[in-house]
Amino acid sequence: MSRIEALAERIGDIPITTRNNVVRGKSRDSFWYSPILKEKLKNVTAEAIVSPRSEEELLRVLAACWALDIPVTPRGGGTGNYAQAMPLAGGVVLDMKQMNRIKSIGEGLLVVEPGAVLSKIEVETREHSGQELRMHPSTRETATIGGFVAGGSGGVGSVRWGMLREPGNILRLRLATLEQDPRLIDLTGDEIAIVHHSYGVNGIITEVELPLAPAQDWVELLIAFDDWMTTVRAGWAVAHHEGLWLKQLAAIQAPAPHTYFSRHRRFLRESDNVLCILAAPNAVQPLLDLLQKDGGRVAFHSGRASEEDRKGLPHLYHLTWNHTTLLALKIDPAMTYLQVGTPEKDPLGAVEEIAQRFSGEIIGHVEYIRAAGRLYASLLPLYRFSNETRLMKVMGDLEAMGCACYNPHVYTYEEGNHCDADPARLDLKRRTDPKGLLNPGKMIGWENPDYSYDPTGTYEFAGLHKTAP
Ligand SMILES: Cc1cc2nc3c(=O)[nH]c(=O)nc-3n(C[C@H](O)[C@H](O)[C@H](O)COP(=O)(O)OP(=O)(O)OC[C@H]3O[C@@H](n4cnc5c(N)ncnc54)[C@H](O)[C@@H]3O)c2cc1C
Repeated sequence: MSRIEALAERIGDIPITTRNNVVRGKSRDSFWYSPILKEKLKNVTAEAIVSPRSEEELLRVLAACWALDIPVTPRGGGTGNYAQAMPLAGGVVLDMKQMNRIKSIGEGLLVVEPGAVLSKIEVETREHSGQELRMHPSTRETATIGGFVAGGSGGVGSVRWGMLREPGNILRLRLATLEQDPRLIDLTGDEIAIVHHSYGVNGIITEVELPLAPAQDWVELLIAFDDWMTTVRAGWAVAHHEGLWLKQLAAIQAPAPHTYFSRHRRFLRESDNVLCILAAPNAVQPLLDLLQKDGGRVAFHSGRASEEDRKGLPHLYHLTWNHTTLLALKIDPAMTYLQVGTPEKDPLGAVEEIAQRFSGEIIGHVEYIRAAGRLYASLLPLYRFSNETRLMKVMGDLEAMGCACYNPHVYTYEEGNHCDADPARLDLKRRTDPKGLLNPGKMIGWENPDYSYDPTGTYEFAGLHKTAP
């Protein structure tokens, strides 16, 4: 009997499938955004998909996987970009989407199971009491709350509330451990940060408690400018005005808007650089007054657009965050992206230098983020990929300029987050996953606790080859 047959026998009526097309589909996430990961991980596949419907079922699955030494990779909507949800060592993918109940909605508070899809949560919270999530990734319609907490970092809403990691943006997490007798543990305070963005390596999230914000009828604006740096500076200036209630603010450089935003193209000129904005209704007029003084032209205003104009348009946030890359990739498969933190001292100077030095290779994309009382110009620029050597050279040059590159073309936590092995994450993992069965291959520190950050991004998980057909 194979280990998967033994697992099926142990878990009884809990849904499990080994159907090839399902297993193959659910063994992949949005790793193909990276031409490097796309090639490296194309043969990665699980052996089975298991879909627990409750904490009790999940604990039974985990106990069986412990007994049979089966690796377990949790999965929400599968929209992660760095192969976070891909089963590098085979084993089981835990499809968490059946655990999707909203447990309670209170004033400013939500308790929810991890498999709930973000847009569905917001339908409920709006109907219940006119509230919404503080932030969501631009994959709001497909991503789950568990996947966002375990794999994401911020998004639409971060211009006001900061990234998910900011204190107060996640209030409590409940985790299931992978031990002989799996336990449920509630984490608050500092331990939340150790589980957030850890790719599920130190426990399966079974419950999330989050703050809610008052919902608004967000007005969508595309403000066009002739010049890139005027656009970036105008965005920087309005983002500083905390009295303007914004939910999203991004600057995107020409020619990307006209070339890649195919359904908004009819409102744009080829030379347009744009600010993509979601503003509360009471912020729109003062915002427009400021931006028009800077030379901005209102290319699209959802409050003024006719029904005909709005027909077939995606949400405006589908032009931002990593949707910008998706739109570019659809039209030009050579495009991929970088994740770049600008130096605190002169962030806009770095944006300008990048535009000058890498013209034709990098197209600018700034996401404005507020965190701990500061404003950041975080870059998600489009990058025209030629080969890996050139990509690494460009990232090296950006680092030499004082930027920090969070390499999105690697699958390990440390390489992607520009950090050494993290003792706190490792310590929790030793307590929650002593056999190292949770999402193997994603944390270098598990194999090498002394690992120091290596910008070459060349780490290879030894267990990976076992999964190739
Ligand atoms: C077009 C596009 C746009 C994007 N925009 C953004 C953005 O704006 N902001 C952003 O942060 N990210 C963004 N991303 C990345 C991704 O969409 C988000 O991180 C998203 O929140 C992931 O949710 P998911 O349910 O798809 O998670 P998955 O991809 O399924 O999983 C993500 C990680 O979480 C782990 N995981 C899933 N469920 C659990 C659980 N219950 N317990 C423990 N671990 C778990 C998985 O193992 C994996 O490591 C984007 C991706 C794409 C393709």
